[in-house]
Amino acid sequence: MNRYDGVKVLITGAGSGIGRATAIRLVSEEAAVFAVDRTEDGLAETVRSASGPGRIVPHVADVTDEPAVVEAVRAAAAELGGIDVLVNVAGIHKTTPIDTLSVEDLHRLFSVNLVGTALFCREALRHLPDRTGVIVNIASSAATQGNPYMTAYSASKGAVLAFSLSLAAEVVGRGIRVVPISPGTVATPLTSGNVIPDGLDARYFGRIRSLLGSAAPEQIAGVIAFAASPDGGYITGAEIRADGGSGA
Ligand code: NAD
Repeated sequence: MNRYDGVKVLITGAGSGIGRATAIRLVSEEAAVFAVDRTEDGLAETVRSASGPGRIVPHVADVTDEPAVVEAVRAAAAELGGIDVLVNVAGIHKTTPIDTLSVEDLHRLFSVNLVGTALFCREALRHLPDRTGVIVNIASSAATQGNPYMTAYSASKGAVLAFSLSLAAEVVGRGIRVVPISPGTVATPLTSGNVIPDGLDARYFGRIRSLLGSAAPEQIAGVIAFAASPDGGYITGAEIRADGGSGA
């Protein structure tokens, strides 16, 4: 029997990159997946790429829109018959050198990366079963390692990590696990548009790169699939880094 046979999973950011790879991976392991993203096009591609034996239901919602999050979680529970696992992947990135850092950038990065994650956790916890419920939140190696020219993004991911550790401590008595996963650089649209802006010192980016190169999104999906399964059943409130040794 597959470890996700009959398991109901809500994934945000499932229309691209790591979220899409995770949806495809879990559907291949027989999960029922409720796939959330802000646009239909990416979700349609994910649905096309995910072939059984599980199933997948696409749902358009902006993770920063509180009523839309409440509705997405309600719809997921109704459509799947409950929610066993929440995977918060939706996120944005922006290079923000300190001299041009704007309040808008700070608000936007925190709104999507932290507030979106927190809202889905709050709502999903109304459904997650005691003893077996799991939340996986995608943070970043930038949460705990200096990433030059990325102060705002790094701070938002540090917030995701801190939020996850405290939430894990709060729900451990219910037997619900909360696992923050911190990837290093992953080859997705989030990073492919990351050209080094004029005037920035390219050498500074070397310290955050792995000599193994970038991870494939499928490699991070494999870590998520492990962490959210019974194989990771004793892991909670502890960060899992998948950074190709860049932080070693
Ligand atoms: P991606 O851009 O390929 O996918 C992100 C997805 O999130 C997109 O489908 C996007 O539409 C969705 N999204 C963004 N804002 C949203 C919103 N307001 N509402 C709903 N959906 C929204 O990027 P990715 O690389 O797959 O990133 C996934 C997560 O992994 C992010 O949280 C990112 O910060 C994190 N991460 C990525 C890397 C990397 O190098 N790619 C490294 C560390 C952490």
